[in-house]
Amino acid sequence: MTRAQESPSPSGDVSPPPPPPFTQDMPVVMVAGGAGYIGSHVVEHLLSLGVYNVVVFDNLSTGHSDAVPSHPNLRFVQGDVRSDSDLDRVMEAYPVEYVMHFCALSLVGESVSQPLKYYDNNVVGTLRLLEAMVRHSVPHLVFSSTAAVYGQAQPEPIREDTPTIPLNPYGGSKLACEQMIRWTCEAHGLKAVALRYFNAAGASATGDIGEDHHPETHLIPLILQVPNGKRDNIKVFGTDYPTEDGTCVRDYIHVSDLASAHALALGHLAQTQPGFNAMNLGYGRGFSVRDVIDHARSVTGEAIAAVDAPRRPGDPPTLVAEAGRAREVLQWVPENDNLDSIIGSAWKWHESHPDGFKK
Ligand code: UDP
Repeated sequence: MTRAQESPSPSGDVSPPPPPPFTQDMPVVMVAGGAGYIGSHVVEHLLSLGVYNVVVFDNLSTGHSDAVPSHPNLRFVQGDVRSDSDLDRVMEAYPVEYVMHFCALSLVGESVSQPLKYYDNNVVGTLRLLEAMVRHSVPHLVFSSTAAVYGQAQPEPIREDTPTIPLNPYGGSKLACEQMIRWTCEAHGLKAVALRYFNAAGASATGDIGEDHHPETHLIPLILQVPNGKRDNIKVFGTDYPTEDGTCVRDYIHVSDLASAHALALGHLAQTQPGFNAMNLGYGRGFSVRDVIDHARSVTGEAIAAVDAPRRPGDPPTLVAEAGRAREVLQWVPENDNLDSIIGSAWKWHESHPDGFKK
């Protein structure tokens, strides 16, 4: 994949020249955080639809420029969501109709030790973005949210009206963003949808983009580091949870199904009244850590060593979605509800890119 056309860095004394205009007259979607894992898959999907111009806005702190494709309907602007001038630059250069907001720090453990870093990046970033949207009269927002807003939710499966009591600053920061968005919709007539992902996993069928976090903390990429020769074993964090096999249960959802839900959310926002709606994205069924390791063994054909380890702080035993609202309101029909194909697509990416996007 070639690197996208890029405007110069916003840092420095001289203002960068405005990025080139689009040649086709289509609605402009600004994807803040479009160089990250989920954002880049959404961008790929939006471009495949051929009905949107896409501006990827990313500071590349955790995203990858190689995750942003060269495409006639895409422009890349390097900038920070907390910077008024960066946001003004992109919203003055393009007639943005929709914003998708993926810019966030998302490591639960780090958020516990550095909560203010999370509130600065996630909450202040969303605050500045909302201010810019109001300033430039951008009416539509799709916000990347998380099941972490629920905390240790009971009963299962989790509905959108299940009480939100986050267990960690990451979930707390995302919930604060949702509340800020809700009030902004009421005051300024915005339309917004927050999509609460359960466990995003897998990679694009193209094999060109996939998950590449530093450090990596997520279960499936870590498991696949074992057959890739990057680690000796996978640690199972906690074997005494109140679940069938004692390990945590999660609702793993293919990133391609997340991408299709985001595109449907744009169509929904175009038709709906001002206001805010939150929707879960998951399949409504859970797999334990041991289940996931077993499936990875069968997909890769490798004996993957697993070692029991203590619980990881902040992990709820079970998180499974009830995603009827997304199916009903967005007409979302997931197509990859199969753990083997989720792990298979991730394996295709990791096997061919053992060092991620690093050349
Ligand atoms: N997990 C594990 N070993 C690891 C990484 C994760 O046992 O090396 C467990 C983790 O404790 C949780 C599940 O796998 O129960 C999913 O964790 P992940 O970080 O992928 O997603 P989260 O549910 O935290 O969003």
